[in-house]
Amino acid sequence: MHKPTVYWDMDGVMAKYDYDMYLPDKDNKILYMVPNAHMYRDMEPDLGAIMIFNSLYANESFCHTKVLTGLGCPYLIAEHLFDKWHWLGQNTDISKEKDFICVTGSKVEAVNRLRPVTKYDILVDDFNPNLEEWARMGGTPVKYVNGINSPRADMLSLPGNDPDTALNMIYGLIKSLSTS
Ligand SMILES: [Mg+2]
Repeated sequence: MHKPTVYWDMDGVMAKYDYDMYLPDKDNKILYMVPNAHMYRDMEPDLGAIMIFNSLYANESFCHTKVLTGLGCPYLIAEHLFDKWHWLGQNTDISKEKDFICVTGSKVEAVNRLRPVTKYDILVDDFNPNLEEWARMGGTPVKYVNGINSPRADMLSLPGNDPDTALNMIYGLIKSLSTS
């Protein structure tokens, strides 16, 4: 009997993906790279994803639940880390800093340095390269279908537009893993 760990991506999963902050604006500025712009402090929450996250987070006897987020701007690590932690406090039931994992670069390589990633490690993410790398290293990938990306036939794909169904799907996956 293994207790799985579910790792949650933020941008495009727990928070709505905002293309505009990653593209040059009219002044040729890329907003997420502008100091003090605090783009991660006011992201719009994806309420379905957060409902599922909170449900799992409250069910510690069933699975471990963590946030696994990338910090992409090399000189704004602190600003973005504080903003994301603040956002999580405002929008989710997360309570322990140990459940908030920030990485630069590969998610799977970062987790793999803590301990080898196995099938009991589930990554919920919207970005195919993250999911593919996770699967290659032996983890269980779950695609979050957020309205601007597509489901995949080769992995469980959670319908963001139907949170109750998505909740049942991930509970089913965790149950089947924990008894395998
Ligand atoms: Mg993402």
